[in-house]
Amino acid sequence: MLIDAHCHFFTKNILTQSLSKLESYMTSLEKLSKPASTIGPKELQKYRDQVFEFANHAIEKTPLEMYETMKEAYGQDFIAVPLMLDFSYTFIAPKDKVLDQKKSLLNSMKSMSEKQREKGLIEWMDDLAKSIEDKIDYYDRSVIGVDVFKNAYEEQIKDLTRLKKERPDRVYPFFSIDPRRNDEFDQGILGEIKKYIGRDKPFTGLKLYTSLGYSPTHPILYDDSSGESVYGYCEKHQIPITIHASLEGFSHMLDKSLVEGDIYYGPSGKAIPSHHAYKDGIVDYRNNFTSMSFSELTQERLLLLNHPNIWRKVLTKYPNLKLNMAHFGGIIQMCKFLKGNQTGFYAPEIIDLMKEFPNVYTDLSCLYNYEKKDLYMEEIYEKIYEPLPEHIKDRVMYGSDYYMLILFDTPLDNYIQGFRQAFGPEFKRISEENPKRFLFD
Ligand SMILES: [Zn+2]
Repeated sequence: MLIDAHCHFFTKNILTQSLSKLESYMTSLEKLSKPASTIGPKELQKYRDQVFEFANHAIEKTPLEMYETMKEAYGQDFIAVPLMLDFSYTFIAPKDKVLDQKKSLLNSMKSMSEKQREKGLIEWMDDLAKSIEDKIDYYDRSVIGVDVFKNAYEEQIKDLTRLKKERPDRVYPFFSIDPRRNDEFDQGILGEIKKYIGRDKPFTGLKLYTSLGYSPTHPILYDDSSGESVYGYCEKHQIPITIHASLEGFSHMLDKSLVEGDIYYGPSGKAIPSHHAYKDGIVDYRNNFTSMSFSELTQERLLLLNHPNIWRKVLTKYPNLKLNMAHFGGIIQMCKFLKGNQTGFYAPEIIDLMKEFPNVYTDLSCLYNYEKKDLYMEEIYEKIYEPLPEHIKDRVMYGSDYYMLILFDTPLDNYIQGFRQAFGPEFKRISEENPKRFLFD
């Protein structure tokens, strides 16, 4: 049966009240996507229509209706893999974290020896007060006032759990959680993962979207020195993980954020601990929400928090992790790669990782016709897919990224048609055999 390894069923339940109103939602999306001055009136109208249709999906449809809409476009029964995203700290900083830092600083003050206290107490307290002040100041400044997402975590769990009950053998959702929320749950985020993901549970795999503000090597995910890590657990139980692997996409919007673990450091091209590059590991971003270029803002965060070299570090420690690097680098990167332009590095990096690590997959979702070329998918097939060794072709999966495709003027029926034509008999391999192995083996 056809499997779409990558789609989203976000509903209005995750949006705040004001954004559930279509108009403001459209305006904000428009603002986020392109400055109006760069597009003509005709284009703008078309774009408005797309945004309207996009917003309509979010606001009008239930997850089951979204599934049925896809089924109609596909013209056949199929398996959907809707991916959840934990948007908790997209627009607001994890404030509890600051309080915890404050607490732990105070605790460490208490545990100082009497002598130390007497000796350096005054200077030390001055430093302490200043550092807390600084931290609170930047957290407050980085809050832009509107949190677009309302209880997004809980609502998505509800939405997708219900859908799983309605279509148990047609829908295999992926769970998502931000590791910075570890202290919010009694058993930590690994407890949540164990509660929701598994054969007899509503979710089949895990989705991580690190540009939402954390490192792929966040200690809760990566560090198993004091017990089990998330990756250790997923590797042991072969729980599939899908990550975003493209330079286009989404990110958190804060201008500063504390990052625990590694970041991508451009000058060396390597993954290094964030506190080596930034004081106290607090990343100070060049592009912020007010200096509005959405793609520059997201790209900076996507590189810094999600570069393939950070994932290489994860895979080196957990070489059997079942990891889907979604989007194969993304269509814009792919177009550059096809032209031999070496800034198109992402797809070849993914291919290298697939060669080195036996359980690394990729999916071909959201590969819309960026350059509006005839036979663009044929070119991807001939120049990128076809030359791959067989054992790598076994780990390439079809996906749509429904309903994000609407924003790129790409109806789902055309999308799959393009794939069928370009891939011919290989389509069965990428849309049935490979995703089946990724999801269920
Ligand atoms: Zn997606």
